[in-house]
Parts: sequence; structure tokens; C-alpha cells
Amino acid sequence: MKLDKRIKTYNKKYQKELEDALRIIEPYLIQAFTSFYGEEYYRQIAYVVQNMKYTYFLSKNFFKSFQNLNYGLSAKDQRVIQTYLKYLANISLNGNRIKDENALEEYFLKKLIVFSSFEQDRLVYADFLSLIEQDVPIYTYVVSENEFLMDKAIFLPIFVLDLKVIIHELNHALAIDVVGFTDDELITPTLFLNEECEELFNDYIAEQIVLEYMKIKGPIPKGLNRFHIVNAYESFYYLIEIFYYVFEQVIKRCIMNKNFNMLREYAGKEDFCLFCSLVQKYYLQGGCSEEQFNELNNFVLKMNEHAFTIENYDYENLFQKLESMGYRVRRLK
Ligand SMILES: [Zn+2]
Repeated sequence: MKLDKRIKTYNKKYQKELEDALRIIEPYLIQAFTSFYGEEYYRQIAYVVQNMKYTYFLSKNFFKSFQNLNYGLSAKDQRVIQTYLKYLANISLNGNRIKDENALEEYFLKKLIVFSSFEQDRLVYADFLSLIEQDVPIYTYVVSENEFLMDKAIFLPIFVLDLKVIIHELNHALAIDVVGFTDDELITPTLFLNEECEELFNDYIAEQIVLEYMKIKGPIPKGLNRFHIVNAYESFYYLIEIFYYVFEQVIKRCIMNKNFNMLREYAGKEDFCLFCSLVQKYYLQGGCSEEQFNELNNFVLKMNEHAFTIENYDYENLFQKLESMGYRVRRLK
């Protein structure tokens, strides 16, 4: 079938384009992450970045919305999308058109995974495939070639993709390790107690690493410059910015050493729990009032004071921050 052949060509083209892009940016990514987290973590960062397994996909949702919006894509990309749409419309199983809507959905999904750097039977949970329909990039695990190990894997939507998406997912991969799994769930401890909080901090950190990437003049190859995606987290940075600013160094150390207790101890366990659940609440309800915002920040200051009571508190970091704000600090020993 002519259409089939053409789709295969397109799939190959996108696979190559993204593989090339990732190869080009890899050393710069490692450098940007290292200048953010610290030289002492270079090897750890390089290992995660260099061993990542990628899957590229085209989302069903993207195709659907493409019919109404053109996402500012080039004329060439638009033609390609039209071909994919035609292909999906014509798709058939065993020569018969698929009548059963569910079978169709499943078939679409398989077809939408354009390229994997691992065999698909190494996927542990296919649950998240439904997220793929929504253009959601995903960080997950796949069974390693040595069956007793797991490999870190990232799913990337081909069209709704930019540098920050990759950095966001890589930062999840650096921050989160699977410690076990049940029949239907991976067990992955996280630093910030709930998903919304974890995502906000992860995205905020990704933004800082993008800035490091720009500072070292990292390239943005073809395939990563279609457009900049504004994600839902960006407009809620204000909820966590002050906490991040106060605890930045502790957060970095916690992530790199997978010692999540350290932050809880510094901030005070109870207050930290409450902070995380307040951020979650405000995020889910779409923001907070000025009064609630001030309350949240007073809370952070209280946690900061608590941090002073911890032995080995990193005063030097605090001093440097004060100095960067223009204060003159005299160090006493
Ligand atoms: Zn995320």
C-alpha cells in the first residue's frame, strides 16, 4: 500500500531527526545539569543522560486538534500530518475496516508509537499509554535486557516537543528511582509528597536548567524548535518560588543523594507536609488570594527559621545569597 510506505518513511524521518537532535544536545545537557547541580554529580548525571531509553510518539489528541488549529507548524509538517490523518482514517486490521471502537483505539495507540529504543514487550505497564493520547510526555521504566533490572525510559511526543520537555523528563529521571513494583504499580518515592507539588518543583528546576543550557550556548537542533510549549505549571511558579529560593541547596543535595529526609528535617516535618498540601490545594483550585499567598510565605520563613536549628546548617550558602542581594555579610568564626 502506497500510503503505508509513505507513513513508514515519515516514521523513519522523525526517528532520525529526533535521534540526531538528542545526540547533538547530549553533551550540552550533561553540562547544563552539572552546572546546576554541581561538578561532584557529573558522573551520575552523565550516566542517566547517556543511558536513557527513548520512545517517540504521535498523539491521537494532537491529530484531532490539528484539524482545527495548525499549531503554527510549517507547511511541510502540515502536509505530513494530513497524510497521517488519512492513514489513520484508512487503517484496517486483516484487510477489514475496524468496527469495534475499542479495538480501533488500541490499534491506533500501537501505531502512534513511532520509534522505541527498546522492544515494546519490555514495557512493564501499558496503563500510561492512555496519557500518550493527550500529548503527555512520560518518564517511566522498562525491563532491561537483563530481566532483573529496569531501564529508565522517556516517551516524547514528536510534534509537541521542545528542549524544556526533555529537560523536565530527564530531571524526573535524576530525581526519581524505582524501588520496587507491584502487579500494577511502580513504587517510586518522591521528594515533595504529592504529585502536583513534585511536578511544580520539577518544572521550576527544569526552567533553571534551560537557562544554564542557554548560558553555555547549547544548540537547539531541528525537531526541537517547532514551537515553545507553555505548560500548565509555569503560571503557578509563584506558589513555590520562595520555598525554592530558601531551600535551593538542600533540594539539590536531596535529589542527587536520594536522601529525601534531609529536606523534611530542615523544613520541619509537620510544616513541610502542610506546605506541600497547601501548594497542592492552591494549584488544583487555580491559584490563591493575596492573603493566602502571604500566609504561605510566612510559613516558608518559619520553615527557614527551623532550618537554623539544624546542626551543620549550610550558613555559607545563606551568606552568599544575602551577598548576591547586595547585603554585606561579616563571617564570624
Ligand atoms: Zn512531570
